[in-house]
Amino acid sequence: MSRTVYVNGAYLSEDEATVSIFDRAFLFADGVYEVTAVVDGRLVDFEAHMARLHRSLGEMEMASPISDGEYAAMHRELIDRNDLAEGIVYMQVTRGAADRDFAFPDESKPTLIGFTQVKSLTNSELAKSGVNVVTLPDIRWKRRDIKSTALLAQALTKEVAKQRGAFEGWMVEDGFVTEGTSSSAFIVWDGATIVTRPLSNEILPGVTRRAILRLAENTELEVDERPFSVDEVKAAGEAFLTSASSFVLPVVEIDGVQIGDGKPGPVTEMFRRLYLEEARRG
Ligand code: PLP
Repeated sequence: MSRTVYVNGAYLSEDEATVSIFDRAFLFADGVYEVTAVVDGRLVDFEAHMARLHRSLGEMEMASPISDGEYAAMHRELIDRNDLAEGIVYMQVTRGAADRDFAFPDESKPTLIGFTQVKSLTNSELAKSGVNVVTLPDIRWKRRDIKSTALLAQALTKEVAKQRGAFEGWMVEDGFVTEGTSSSAFIVWDGATIVTRPLSNEILPGVTRRAILRLAENTELEVDERPFSVDEVKAAGEAFLTSASSFVLPVVEIDGVQIGDGKPGPVTEMFRRLYLEEARRG
């Protein structure tokens, strides 16, 4: 059965949905996006995704095509029309179609699209086994804080990770881990401190990362926002990654070296459980 997708105010079959070949996202990756998880048919952390969307739009000097209430209605409509119980809603705002020119057009109408994807999020085998990562150079541009559709560096890096048999690539710059190709990176020291890179233009401000730091406030754990090295990951008791489409996943191996005892650790499991409980509460 074909999905119902959203294009500029219309709900269409995915086979009928089109955008212009002159769209600046197609020509220049001149667009921003958000991916929101859906659990039990409900959006997870939607306000935080909206806040980040507005931040990205602002940094790109793009106006929002619709109001926050309309974004929420569009997401709910896509969930309903596609009977989505668990998975993600993807939405993308672009600067719209215009004659090809690097400089922004004087006038263009933003393109807004949305679609759903079914994905098993809560019952992940990977959460039980843990995942392996390999480290690769961070070859991205210098505005990684913007959630732009310019994702070629991440796609290339993820593909190399996949070819090396890894679930994710952890990107490294000047000896320190920045983040995963599509996830935020954490390590756990002595079962007592979680370490993650501080926000800057060097990483994406992950919505799930933010939720984990908030959840940590109600635990005994210390939070240390600082860059960490690959050697530190190898010496850590636990490591984990976070993203809207995987929540919290244990990282049990990096570059072929086992982390901790090579099994998902208690701190990681606690955060996954707390995050899922919150998602289910809605
Ligand atoms: N870092 C990068 C580079 C990403 O692409 C993503 C998600 O796609 C994340 C981190 C995780 O962000 P979030 O938790 O908002 O999904």
